Amino acid sequence: MTAPLIDPFARAITYLRVSVTDRCDFRCVYCMSENMQFLPKKELLTLEELDRMCTTFIGMGVRKLRITGGEPLVRRDIMTFFQGMTRHLDSGALDELTLTTNGSQLARFAEPLYAAGVRRVNISLDTLDEEKFARVTRWGRLAQVLKGVDAALAAGLKVKINAVALKDFNEDELLRLTQWCAEREMGLTWIEVMPMGDLGNEDRVGQYWSLNDLRSQLAQHYTLTELDERTGGPARYVRLEETGQKIGFITPLTHNFCESCNRVRLTCTGELYMCLGQEDMADLRAPLRNNPKDVAPLQEAIRKAIGLKPKGHDFDYSRQKADGQVTRHMSHTGG
Ligand code: SAM
Ligand code: SF4
Repeated sequence: MTAPLIDPFARAITYLRVSVTDRCDFRCVYCMSENMQFLPKKELLTLEELDRMCTTFIGMGVRKLRITGGEPLVRRDIMTFFQGMTRHLDSGALDELTLTTNGSQLARFAEPLYAAGVRRVNISLDTLDEEKFARVTRWGRLAQVLKGVDAALAAGLKVKINAVALKDFNEDELLRLTQWCAEREMGLTWIEVMPMGDLGNEDRVGQYWSLNDLRSQLAQHYTLTELDERTGGPARYVRLEETGQKIGFITPLTHNFCESCNRVRLTCTGELYMCLGQEDMADLRAPLRNNPKDVAPLQEAIRKAIGLKPKGHDFDYSRQKADGQVTRHMSHTGG
């Protein structure tokens, strides 16, 4: 183990989010355009490279890995990667191995994921209405995802549902979704829609629904108790006293939590983004690929990149664009 990763603002970097593919079996309207161009295979880190990369980060103090995408479970043989990471859980070097998924493949993978040491999953689901689900995901089928949720619970995984808050789309499902999650002892986290990518779609389902508004609506039906929990990320949590359920609010457009930010993001091509909201990144694929036997150049590149982690993001007043919009897609950096 080398010295821990500490950024210029004295934040320890202990959480790595890894996008293992830019591909997906859905085309959610706020995330992808209908005709996405995906990366050629040779651009992607191989499964062995992903293993070496994550192992190097773990050796430098990363304690939590979240696997994402694109849809992580559509990457071929991805279970081999998860099974490889089990050794770091077993050795105690890694506290948590988890993933964010659209749930479409969970009926198949929930049990092997549990066997590999995964204990919690985040499943993205914005609506319980079949027709609306088809509209927002373009290619998804609700029944398949619901089967995935059931399989995850049956396998013993703790499930948290992530829903993007969309005005005039799932506003009317606030209570239904809350109750549905409560019945299954699942947490529910609402995400404010972010200005990511140039999606070129005029037919956007819904619009920005402020989480302040969502929260006031919830407070009309439940007793909300603020929880002190800090994740190092832009999430805030409350407990609903009537159900005991945890409800999260992710408002990435506010920068209130950058001071406790403990995370960096790796894309499927080996680019390390130090901040979701800014364009600064470092290429880690070259030092990884060019030095198959020597880990030192990669470690040096990682340390140098962490040394450039910005103090905070600037969605509303960016150096890049007036409105702070970041041009890459969410599926590229991983949500
Ligand atoms: N495919 C997986 C899934 O959907 O869970 C993992 C990747 S997806 C990019 C991760 C999360 O980002 C999902 O919960 C999705 O709803 C969210 N997301 C995608 N585009 C977004 C946007 N423009 N604003 C807010 N959240 C977004
Ligand atoms: Fe795919 Fe997830 Fe993006 Fe939807 S949000 S298109 S499921 S990557």
